[in-house]
Amino acid sequence: MEMQELLELGIKLHGHKCPAMPLGIRAGLAALRKLSVERAANKELFCLCETGSAHATMCFVDGVQVATSCTLGKSNLKKLEYSKNALTLIDLKRKKAVRVALNPAFQKKGLQSEFVKLRSQGIELQDIPAEITDPLIENIMIQPDEVLFKISEIFDCNFQTEKGTFEWDECEECGEIVFAPGIRIKKGRKLCLPCAEK
Ligand SMILES: [Zn+2]
Ligand SMILES: [Zn+2]
Repeated sequence: MEMQELLELGIKLHGHKCPAMPLGIRAGLAALRKLSVERAANKELFCLCETGSAHATMCFVDGVQVATSCTLGKSNLKKLEYSKNALTLIDLKRKKAVRVALNPAFQKKGLQSEFVKLRSQGIELQDIPAEITDPLIENIMIQPDEVLFKISEIFDCNFQTEKGTFEWDECEECGEIVFAPGIRIKKGRKLCLPCAEK
């Protein structure tokens, strides 16, 4: 996919224009290139993303999903909650991996930008003028990988993934279908987690 196409797809999925999501696209692409693999049609790749759930630049992980097709839905992407902008992309068949981290010098510059200043003052994204946001995104899309990232050498990685089950049952309380990992036995009844915790 062309870079522009990925960016448009990313903005559509992500919902707003910000610099962190395109950085995730570039990071995902850099990892694919280093490993010499295509984006994941199925589950041949696994992505460990180091972002957390309560900090600036978390949007990074949506860009990573757009570029690599390692997604929350396919469960071949996991957030490690390190609150860092980095990822490890694993080629499960060849058992090889690469880690791509934001270059601290580039990230520092970004964190000192007018955009981040306004965001940290509580200004909503949609209220930040396009003249501030757009040049940041354009810059990210044209910088060479080595300006944006620290890219590791390829290393061996014997990462095990869980196989998805087709086994299911009906919760004896709410009647809804629940797959095997979510079934609990309580007083001899098969229940889903929310019903078992009631
Ligand atoms: Zn965002
Ligand atoms: Zn239930």
